[in-house]
Formats: sequence, C-alpha cells, structure tokens
Amino acid sequence: QADAERAESHLEVFTRDSCFVEVAANVGSSEEAQLAADSGADAVGLLRSEFLFLGRDSAPGEEEQRREYQASVDALGAKPVVIRTLDIGADKQLPYLQLPPSPNPALGVRGMRLWQVEPELLDSQLRALLGVRPLRYLRVMVPMISDASELEWVRKRMEALAAEMHLTELPLLGAMIEVPSAALCAASMANVADFLSIGTNDLTQYGLAMDREDPLLASQADVLHPGVLRLIQATLNGAAGRCPVAVCGAAAGDDLVGPLLVAMGVNELSVEPSRVAAVKARIRRLDTSVIAREIDTLLAMPDAASVRQALAPLVESAL
Ligand code: PEP
Ligand code: MG
Repeated sequence: QADAERAESHLEVFTRDSCFVEVAANVGSSEEAQLAADSGADAVGLLRSEFLFLGRDSAPGEEEQRREYQASVDALGAKPVVIRTLDIGADKQLPYLQLPPSPNPALGVRGMRLWQVEPELLDSQLRALLGVRPLRYLRVMVPMISDASELEWVRKRMEALAAEMHLTELPLLGAMIEVPSAALCAASMANVADFLSIGTNDLTQYGLAMDREDPLLASQADVLHPGVLRLIQATLNGAAGRCPVAVCGAAAGDDLVGPLLVAMGVNELSVEPSRVAAVKARIRRLDTSVIAREIDTLLAMPDAASVRQALAPLVESAL
C-alpha cells in the first residue's frame, strides 16, 4: 500500500465528491524543501525561516538569506513556496537582539510584532525575499497577525522596498491565523491578504489560553475543542469567496482532524513531508459530504473529548 501511495503522491488530489485539496509540506530549511519536492507535495505551505537566524552570534546578511530562499524556490520547480517571515519570541529567542525581558513571552513581542522593535531586521528579510526569482512562485506569509491593519502595514512596507528595488512584480502576501482576533476578523483580513493559513498550534494555544509547551496541559490543549473549531469556521466563513485558506499547524496532517478540516472547506493542508503521500491517499478516499452534514452537531458539543469520540466513527464512514 505504501508503494502505491508513493506512486500517486505526485498527482493532484480530489476527494471522492470532487473537492480539490492542495497537499503542501511544512519545512524548516532549504534541504527540507528538497524533501518536500521529492515527497510529491503540491507546494511548500510553510517554510519556517527561523532556521537562518537561530544558533549564531549575529543576524544573517541579506545575500546569505536570499540564497537560502532562492534554493527553496528552486527545489520546488514551478510550485509555490510560502516563506514565513521571522517568528521569533515566545519559546525562540535570538541572543543578538537586545530585547528587554518579556513578562509573558507568548503574549509579548513575537512574530509580526518584532517589526516595530527591530525594523531593520525584518526589512532586510523582506529585501532578501524580494531578491528571489521568479517572484511568481514565492509567497510571503506573516506570523502572529492580530488584524487586517497589521497586514496592510506589511504590504505597504513590501511595496516601499519593492519600489526602492525597482520591481514591477510583487509576491503574494498572506497572513497566518494564529490569534483569535484574526480568526474572528477573517473577512477584513481576507480583503488585504492574498491567502490565509491557519496555524492550529498557536490558534489552539491562544484560543484555549493553554501554553502549548506545558506538559501538564498537553492532553487538554486539543484542536478539536469546539471553541477552536469555531475559530476555524469563523476564518473559513470570513474568507469565503475572498481568498483561499490553508491549515499549516500539526492538525493538518492528523488522520482524524485533516478530513474534518477538508469537510469544513479548507483549501490546502500543509503537513510534514513524510506525511504527504499518506494524506493525499486518504483525501482521495474521502467523501466530505458525510462529515459536512454533521459539522453543526460537532460544534455544539460541550468539549473536545465529545468531538473526538463522535468524529472517529464519522471519518471512518466517510472513507
Ligand atoms: C502554528 O502555530 O500552528 C504554526 C504552524 O506555527 P509554529 O508551529 O511555527 O508556531
Ligand atoms: Mg505559530
């Protein structure tokens, strides 16, 4: 079965009821981008650019960055590569940034918020990204966005830097949906964004106010909590007809949650490269209508355990 899955992993996938789903890969370096290409992924749905900035004494130069971003885009050939701008803060700190200690790092200056504090660091990353060719395969994604005006601000920055570089073409620009306010404001977000991508790891953390690193909370910090699912639904409803919505958190590659996300209307699942073939094979067997008609019932349940219990047989019957 694994051989058959691998043989078909480079083909695009439709569910049994003809919904097109993109299966992309999450990667943490340009070498992994090659793994993503080999896996048959339709795109890189998330390149975490932190790898370039961590474990060193000073920030990488613009040219060093550009080469890494270019290598990832080259690895995927004519497929899209979503590169996320630096998501530092919370659990990941850079020794060469002299930031004052944060009383609560997960709620402090992280992701997009770092732009206000270290503008040259983020501008130089954006210039390196704008140096990639051809720009049409590159997509720039911004983490920890709270509302549309933040993304609008990044778009203006990108346009200003592109003008300085005499560019006439810009890459697509998207926002991660990881903060509950962004999920609830998805309609206005989608007016500014070319695409949205739900980071279910952080959306679960912030939606439930449960630290994703806390082992005592690991079993309760469940993406299937009806409150988190409602944030995902709000994102899809808000974006509907305005821009596509991906999921790039760990939930996307989960055997139980992935089919639910597709039935809710997610356009792309971005998963670990090693999961691409299996996820594509599962989507091909899926009849989303079986799950779709139960979504309101699932979202009305009192807790994650109830959803989990009801979803397991539902997904089985949809395959
Ligand atoms: C997420 O929050 O779901 C996500 C994909 O980003 P990270 O895991 O890098 O925070
Ligand atoms: Mg995140």
